[in-house]
Amino acid sequence: MISTSQLKQLAKEHGTPIFVIDHEQLRKNYAQFKKHLPRVQAYYAVKANSDPEIVRTLYKAGASFDVASMAEFRLVYDNIKSLPAKERQAFIWDKIIYANPIKDIATLEELDQYKPLVTYDNHAEILKLKKYAPHAGLILRIRVPNTGAVVELSSKFGASGGEAVDLIKAAHDHDLKVEGLSFHVGSQSTNFSNYVAALNLSAQIFEEAHARGYPDCKILDIGGGFPAPYDKHVKPLGELAKTINAEIKRLFPKDMEILAEPGRGLVATAATAVAGVIGKAVRDGKQCYYINDGVYHTFSGVIFDHIQYHFKSFKKGPTQVCSVFGPTCDALDTISLAEELPDMELGDLVYSENVGAYTHASSTYFNGFPPAKVIHVNQ
Ligand SMILES: *Cc1c(COP(=O)(O)O)cnc(C)c1O
Repeated sequence: MISTSQLKQLAKEHGTPIFVIDHEQLRKNYAQFKKHLPRVQAYYAVKANSDPEIVRTLYKAGASFDVASMAEFRLVYDNIKSLPAKERQAFIWDKIIYANPIKDIATLEELDQYKPLVTYDNHAEILKLKKYAPHAGLILRIRVPNTGAVVELSSKFGASGGEAVDLIKAAHDHDLKVEGLSFHVGSQSTNFSNYVAALNLSAQIFEEAHARGYPDCKILDIGGGFPAPYDKHVKPLGELAKTINAEIKRLFPKDMEILAEPGRGLVATAATAVAGVIGKAVRDGKQCYYINDGVYHTFSGVIFDHIQYHFKSFKKGPTQVCSVFGPTCDALDTISLAEELPDMELGDLVYSENVGAYTHASSTYFNGFPPAKVIHVNQ
């Protein structure tokens, strides 16, 4: 954790808005994941926060990576370049999964030389893979319940349980090799029974595939969804891990390779935003503050990620309910209508914790305001 005095010092040094990434926290989060899920290799989902320094720190800690575009693939690949070419090739499945079930032709043509591990979930993708990336290893993405997840991910991707083995067969009929299954229970998944349902469905599909004569799959990718502690109601990772570990032990052979694609769970708690108050007004009897960071910037997650971020002040004193708005001219740039802050003056600072995931990653230059400056600490 970065101390408030350190945050204040950084804001003084760099100005605001700043987005402070704590690499010690990143290493801690990775170590926690490994400790609680020792059988599972974590493939960090780069889309949560694609800062190259985060990729480097997690790589050094032992993480692998889930990428979903050619740019993300390059970002990761370029950071494992120091390895001898031969080792890098043998290594690629261990370090990178291309987990976007839909890939354009140019991407497949470029990816094929790396003999990558990629996900798919439909017939059209099989034909594309056969033609443009015949050297890829395939992972079938299946659709699983996303009940109660904050960000639903099952309406866009995933083969149903009923069509799964037919899609494995179709890939084999085109001389493509299916190495395993993947799923995603939805992001910020606080409903642990989604994982149980998904693991059980996966076991059934493996069994049916085996019965229909397809070679045993070796890989099970349990996706992301590991929740960040945005509020005290979120149960700790240890509790979820107990459930997952027990199901894995019960349902799958010892030599099944298990991977996961945590994004939020590894980065959310590793960043804090500090912004300055640039305006204030009382509207309809309510105190309103305008700050120099907003929903087109660090707080993009309010819109895209359905997460409500809260603010703290470095000041002490009696608080009142207030609204906090971003700096652009758009009324959509409303970060929160219900904050509790002491009386703030122009130039005072506010900060918001646990902003590492799906925030800076989808920041824009809207209205001429650039994304917050990124500062790395404890690197
Ligand atoms: C977004 C995404 C992830 C990361 O999900 P989190 O909920 O942030 O852990 C993992 N895998 C895939 C395929 C994704 O689309």
